[in-house]
Formats: sequence, C-alpha cells, structure tokens
Amino acid sequence: MPSVSFMRMVRLVSLAMQPSLIFRFCPRCGVERSMPAASEPFRCAPCGFLFFFNPAVAAAAILLGPDGRALFIRRAKEPSKGMLGMAGGFIDIGETAEQALRRELREEVNLELESLRFLCSQPNTYSYQEVTYPVLDLFFVATTLKPAEAAALDAVESYCWLDPHAVDPAELAFPSMREAMHVFQRGLQSSF
Ligand SMILES: [Zn+2]
Repeated sequence: MPSVSFMRMVRLVSLAMQPSLIFRFCPRCGVERSMPAASEPFRCAPCGFLFFFNPAVAAAAILLGPDGRALFIRRAKEPSKGMLGMAGGFIDIGETAEQALRRELREEVNLELESLRFLCSQPNTYSYQEVTYPVLDLFFVATTLKPAEAAALDAVESYCWLDPHAVDPAELAFPSMREAMHVFQRGLQSSF
C-alpha cells in the first residue's frame, strides 16, 4: 500500500502533477518511496539510486520569410489547442537544437530553414495527461527563402504569415513564447 504521506501529496498536486511525484517506486530496486518532493531528485536510500528530474528541451522559431513577415501556426492539439504559436518541438536525444528545429519545421510546416540565429531561452511547462513537465524552450530567429511551400502538417491546424511588429504577444499559446516575442520585438530594429 502507498504510504499516507505519499497519497496526501498526490491529492494535493493531482491536477498539475510533477513527473517526480509519479516515481512511487525505485526503478532500480523496486522499493517504495516514502517522502516524495516535487522539487528534489529521486533518492533511494536502500540501493543508492539517484535520478535528477531535469527539464525537457524544446526549440521554436520566429520564422521570417523574404518579405519580413513571420510564420505562426494554430495548434491542432492540446495543450493550448487553437491558439497561436511558433513552429517547433522537443529536441530528441542526440540532436542539436538546430537539427531539431530544422526537423520540426519540415514536419510541421514543410519548410526548409536558411539562416538560424539564437534569440533567447525561457522556462516553460507542458501539461499532458495530467502531468506537468518542466521544459526549457530555446528560441531562434530563422529565415526561409520559399514561404510558398508552407503547409499545415503534423500538429498544425493552420498557419499564417503576420507582421512580427504587429503581433500581440498575449495571443501566443505559452508564456515562454510571449516573452520571446517581447525580446524579438524589443531588439527588432537593431538586430534583425
Ligand atoms: Zn532503489
């Protein structure tokens, strides 16, 4: 049976559960964990196993076409289904952020990137099936030379090209995207 303290903790955070609270048993020796804490690494006293719950890493692009407009997508899936977003996605093990971004842009909007320049990073969370995963988003400013080849593919309901000066960051799906848009707009005249 799970310990009373563990079940109390699960109830308290059940609507926004951190991945660390799901580790009820040691994955190496199987001993039940007695005192979970969302902010601490998993430590198993009996066998010494130690596991850190680091954020997943994602990359997203403010993608500019030759006319200076930027590509935005409408998200086809939760979280934030129907909201405006930037194309991008999670980085696979062994990929660089740049490789992941080029792959995600092909998969989501059928576009090949030309230039790619790091803008900023922002912490984020990603809620899926009642688990809230910590994420670190890496934002890039990218360009494509063939905007007419854009298509709404994987996880994309539709796409649009907008003046990045005129986009209200509040319309974007995630707080991290809103902050990145602020960073881009503040630096737009001098840097991009
Ligand atoms: Zn163990």
